[in-house]
Amino acid sequence: MVAESTSLVTTPAPAVKSSNDEKLRQLEQTALACRKCPHLVAFRHQVVFGVGNPDAELMFVGEAPGADEDLRGEPFVGRAGELLTRIIQTMGFSRAEVYIANVLKCRPDVPPGKSGNRPPTAEEMATCLPYLREQIALIRPKLMVALGGVAMRGLFGVDQPMKSLRGRWHQFAGIPVMPTFHPSYLLRNQSLTEKRKVWEDMLLVLERLERPITERQRNFFLAKG
Ligand code: URA
Repeated sequence: MVAESTSLVTTPAPAVKSSNDEKLRQLEQTALACRKCPHLVAFRHQVVFGVGNPDAELMFVGEAPGADEDLRGEPFVGRAGELLTRIIQTMGFSRAEVYIANVLKCRPDVPPGKSGNRPPTAEEMATCLPYLREQIALIRPKLMVALGGVAMRGLFGVDQPMKSLRGRWHQFAGIPVMPTFHPSYLLRNQSLTEKRKVWEDMLLVLERLERPITERQRNFFLAKG
């Protein structure tokens, strides 16, 4: 009896977390060596796989790395990324608690001498989508947020304006997805009304995750009466 209870106490807990982490690392190694799109391989500095908690309950999906992300090897680290980080923190999470990835893992190429970023094509996103599918299958987040119309096109093949998509739930691989405006849209449209729309989408996410929401959080970006 004593021996039995001792063995129960000393049995190590199954290493579920680390095996998930390990599988994600293996997938990352495969993605880092990917050469499916020769024009992107020739242009990229790095493959931008994704960052965050391998067991995240919440995952954010953007369209593709831009110049900053391509140099740093991490999604959402430029100006739009700083805004996304502030949104995540305002929701009550740290960046390390959630998972952040893009549909396309390489920066879309731009002609020599041209600066800026271009949106990924439907074909590029379709080629890359299996990596994201696998990431989602390993992480199994409770919810996802799709950032912008291009990410929605990459995930669902839908080509509809964000204003008709946001604010309601969609499903990808059995996981509820809330679409919202891309942070770079908010950088271009800094009105309280547009900020509030994104925030209302995030409140729906917090409600569905059953996270506590303070009165202050509920009232963010409301016009003062
Ligand atoms: N925009 C995106 O969609 N993804 C990034 O990683 C950066 C900007």
